This record gives sequence, C-alpha cells and structure tokens, in this order.
Amino acid sequence: MVTCTVDIDSVVHYDVQFFDEAAVVAIRNGTPSPAIPHQFPMGIAFLLTFCCAAAAFVLTGLKDYLQAQIGLSDRTLILQPESRSRQQRFDVEHVPGVYGVVEFSPNAPELEPIVTGPLCAWHACTPEPAQVDSEGKVIEWQHTSEEDGKPVTRSCLLKTAVTIGELDRLFYESAERTVLMASSHLGERLAKQALRQSDVV
Ligand SMILES: [Zn+2]
Repeated sequence: MVTCTVDIDSVVHYDVQFFDEAAVVAIRNGTPSPAIPHQFPMGIAFLLTFCCAAAAFVLTGLKDYLQAQIGLSDRTLILQPESRSRQQRFDVEHVPGVYGVVEFSPNAPELEPIVTGPLCAWHACTPEPAQVDSEGKVIEWQHTSEEDGKPVTRSCLLKTAVTIGELDRLFYESAERTVLMASSHLGERLAKQALRQSDVV
C-alpha cells in the first residue's frame, strides 16, 4: 500500500492511495507526456539565437584584435573627425572630349583615389581604338557594348589623335593633378580658418 498525502490548511486536502509500487509505475508509464507546442520552429529559433550570440562574440573579438594590431583605440575611433570622400569630374588635358571621375578623401591623403574612365563626353563610355595610323595614333574611336548577348559597336565623335599609351598617361596625370589641387585648396582653406580663429582669440 502506497499513500500520498498533501495536507496544507490553505489548500484543498488530497489523500490518494495506491495498492503497491507497481501500480504507481504503471500509471506513470501510461500517462502521456504533455506535447510541447511549436517544438520544431522553437528549436530552430533557439539554434539561431545561439548562432547569433556566438557570431557576436567572434566579431567583437576580431574587431578588438584588428584595432590592437593597428594601434587604434576605441576612444580615437569615436573622437576622430568624420572624413567624407569627394567625387570630382576632370577633363583629360590635351584630349578634348575625354573626361574622368576621381573619388578621393581630402582629409585622408593616405587613401588611394578611385579613378573611373577615361570616358567620352558624347556617350559617357570608354573610347576604344577603331582605326590606327602608321605612327600608332588612334584616329577613329568607337564603343563596344553588349546587347542581347551580342557585341555591338558604334563609332564615337572623338577625333583626337593620340596613342593608347598617351591617353592613359594623360588621363592618370590629369586625375593626379585634380586630387593634388583639391587637397592644396583644402590645406589653404584650413590654414586661413586657423589664422582667423587665432585672430579672434
Ligand atoms: Zn563616344
């Protein structure tokens, strides 16, 4: 005989009696476990939560490691002035009708400028040689594009006779000059600002 009793004054009184231990085991085995609702999606959600938490630790560790390698503290990272890049178009000297676009950061000269081009002023496309004279100068230019998987060629109005190497050299020289001029203008402006501030003080 097994007797289970719950006897608390404030609660209902229970007095359950079983014949023997085997009856208790039989009832326990026969009682189905309550099903967990939405078990599968909940399992996926728990797994994702775990992965996100683990990834956050890994990313934080990587960030700290990289900052330590380049000697950049959190304080410097927060307090350093924001420097935006600037995009500027420039004409390629001695090649009228050809221009380029240079993106650079005047406050961070150590960053390599991104140069796009050369582009023709009529079609904003890269000019390619169509006809070359005996000296290697391109006298006719064209553009090649792809339409429906087939290459399509159209002639360009650009008439300047330069070699491909010359065009490249002039293009990069013009880009470099543009960046230098913009940086020196900025330097002058900052110097003037500093002078004005010192006058006020
Ligand atoms: Zn063109």
